[in-house]
Formats: sequence, structure tokens, C-alpha cells
Amino acid sequence: MEPTIVDDLFEAMESHELIAYYQPQYNANTGILVSAEALVRWRDAEGNIKMPSEFIPELEKTNAITYLDWFVAEEACKTIKELGDRAVPISVNFSQRHVNEKDFASRLERLLKRYEVDKNLFEVEITETAFLDEYENIVNWGKDIHEKGIKIAIDDFGSGSTSIKLLAEMPVSVLKIDKGLMQETSKTAEGKVAIESIFYLAHRLNLETVAEGVESSSQLKLMQSFDCQKIQGFLFAKPMPKEEFMLLCGSSKNVAVNYDVLTDGGH
Ligand code: C2E
Ligand code: MG
Ligand code: MG
Ligand code: MG
Repeated sequence: MEPTIVDDLFEAMESHELIAYYQPQYNANTGILVSAEALVRWRDAEGNIKMPSEFIPELEKTNAITYLDWFVAEEACKTIKELGDRAVPISVNFSQRHVNEKDFASRLERLLKRYEVDKNLFEVEITETAFLDEYENIVNWGKDIHEKGIKIAIDDFGSGSTSIKLLAEMPVSVLKIDKGLMQETSKTAEGKVAIESIFYLAHRLNLETVAEGVESSSQLKLMQSFDCQKIQGFLFAKPMPKEEFMLLCGSSKNVAVNYDVLTDGGH
């Protein structure tokens, strides 16, 4: 029988073909690196990098995605531990399939303990689409995580059927503005108003805000005008290998290189 992508996944985890990249997130007002998101990459035997869009959708069809997520979570913990005093919080993407893992929060807590990772240094990212079904389950799942003192970020907010009700009922800490909103919706006056309303909601609910997909200085300025706290985008940094990311942490290079130029004379 032909090996399936799931067989390949387990092999890749063992042979270090599956790796975590890190994309820095910057304080929107100072340009200082304050946190990061872990993003999986698949590096095949020839050294070619496969992007998540080439394998995540297939793995999402089965529970295999949950093994990948736990693998990335463990990699992130190792990185945080290695960074020691220089560590910044790292967020990890979890598929909606984890909502059915009854012991998710305890397992996560054990993982953090094993690597002596402070709970403030790890965040659970979950995508908005996760909320379409299993509404009750996800609220309880989120409460368990919150009770352990671990933060939850809603990823890609504004891209799907946003459940505002859920924001009110689940203990969410962070709202990540979808990059589609940034790159398409923000082009029109109506779009800007729609995005502004998300920030209004986030600020009133005391949620931290992260703008994804910021590629231009005008997008940066728009986010600053809405008091967005953190910027994650190619304007400042692309996802990078662990070694490169670790060099940035705590170094004098942890200010986005082009920050001054962009905020002063940008277009
Ligand atoms: P996401 O969680 O929303 O991650 C942000 C994605 O936006 C990343 O794509 C990142 O490289 C990209 N991005 C950030 N800034 C910019 C920008 O300025 N311009 C553009 N064009 N793109 C930008 P990536 O790494 O390809 O990941 C795609 C998606 O795959 C992620 O979206 C996430 O949903 C999923 N994913 C990645 N790693 C994992 C993982 O470990 N587990 C799970 N379950 N999903 C993952
Ligand atoms: Mg994410
Ligand atoms: Mg996502
Ligand atoms: Mg996202």
C-alpha cells in the first residue's frame, strides 16, 4: 500500500523534517520585538520547504493534525526554555480537533511544566472557524485552558462567521485580526470602518490585539490609528528558523530594522 500523508507525518517528526519557524510580533508603537507565533514547515530530504497550505488541509481531515500541533507546541517549549531570560511569549496554532481532547488543558500544563515554561510565555491560538460547530464544547474547552492560567488567542478574526457571542462567553485574551481584512478590506472607507469596529470591540473587552499580514507602512499607520498593540507581518519580519529567531531575541537587533523610516516618512 502507498504510504499516506499521515504515515509521512510520523516519519517527518522523527527525522526532523518537520520544523517550527517563528514569526516575530512587534509592539506597534515602539517597533520592539515582544512575542512570536510558531508556524510549522516541512523540510523534505532534498531540503525543500513545504508550506502549511500544502499539507495542513489534508492532515485536518483526520486526527493526525493533533499530533502535528502537539509536536509544534513541544518545539516552542524547547525554544522558550533555551532562550531563558531572553524568552518572549510564543503562540501555537491548535486545530479545532483539539476541542474533543478531554484532557487538553492538563496535557498542556504538563508540557509547560516539563520544559519549565512560565504560563505567561505560551499562548493557544485557535481559528474562528472552529466555532461553527460544537459551540458548548469549545466554551468549556476554553474555560479549562483559562483556568490553568494559559491565554487563548482567536486567530483570523473577522474572516469567517464571527461569533461575537463567543467572545463574550469564552475567556479569550487576544484577538488576531485576519490578514485578509488587512490586505483587502482595509482598501476601502467602508472596510476601514468595519475593521475599526473590531478594534472597538477588542478594546472594550480588554483583549490584546495583533494585526496579521501588515506589509506596508500605510497598513501599519492604520493599525496604529486603531491602537492596535502588536504587528505581525512581512513589513517587519517573515517566519524564520529557530536559530535566526533566537539571535533576534534580546539582541540590539530586536527593533524592527525599518521601523523609524516607516513611521516618520512612510507613504
Ligand atoms: P495563521 O495561523 O493565520 O498564521 C499566519 C500566516 O500568515 C502565516 O502563514 C504567515 O507566514 C502569514 N503571514 C504573516 N504575515 C504576513 C504578511 O505580511 N503577508 C503575507 N502574505 N502573509 C503573512 P503560514 O506560515 O503559511 O501558515 C498558514 C496557516 O497554516 C496558519 O495561518 C495556520 O492556520 C496554519 N498553521 C501553520 N502552522 C500550524 C500548526 O503548527 N498547526 C496548525 N494546526 N496550523 C498551522
Ligand atoms: Mg495563527
Ligand atoms: Mg489560522
Ligand atoms: Mg491568522
